[in-house]
Amino acid sequence: MDPSLKQAAEAARGFMPPDEGLALYEAALGVPVGGAPMLEIGSYCGKSAVYLGAAAVERDVVLFALDHHRGSEENQPGWEWHEPDLVDPAIGRLDTLPLFRRTIHDAGLEDRVVALVGESLVVGRHWNIGLSLLFIDGGHGSEPAHRDFELWTPHVRVDGLLVIHDVFPDPADGGRPPFEIYCRALDSGQFVEEGAVGSLRVLRRTSAP
Ligand code: SAH
Ligand code: MG
Repeated sequence: MDPSLKQAAEAARGFMPPDEGLALYEAALGVPVGGAPMLEIGSYCGKSAVYLGAAAVERDVVLFALDHHRGSEENQPGWEWHEPDLVDPAIGRLDTLPLFRRTIHDAGLEDRVVALVGESLVVGRHWNIGLSLLFIDGGHGSEPAHRDFELWTPHVRVDGLLVIHDVFPDPADGGRPPFEIYCRALDSGQFVEEGAVGSLRVLRRTSAP
């Protein structure tokens, strides 16, 4: 990975350990599906978008980075992953879009990484572009995770990749929904597992939905 992008990714705020970020980058680099774009659900401050964006540069494709930038449940005040300085004081709500833009600007990725600012459900209902890679790292509650799976995975092209973050087979390590949608993908018979690093799972679509 380009050393300056690797440094930018590691310096960015967010929730992507370096080894999993590198695995994400390498998966994105190896997708055999031509010029189709990639899309991530859940960008926060842009950390994973820099790993994926680095691969987008090398593959000459675009990454759509989808987030409403209001934070997940666990990012809200009183929850474990709340960062108070990310609250917009004028409205009293989380706003990670300014930091996301700064991260992507400073990494020099503004022509590769396109922010889609909105609710995954709303954007997903209108989406009809085939994807070479889909990265699911948005809402981790049962409803949002299963909905993201249902709405977005049909857009992954055959031979394209579905990458899911925060997959914890042991309930002691974390929440169930990302693990559940990982199981759903495998149970559908349309995906096979290609790799796993930490809580990151890389699946390849082998047949059409
Ligand atoms: N990939 C990021 C971490 C993502 S955290 C990193 O590398 O650091 C999860 C993100 O999902 C949050 O920013 C939150 O705003 C977003 N999110 C949660 N539910 C969403 C929804 N329904 N629609 C759009 N974005 C959502
Ligand atoms: Mg995550």
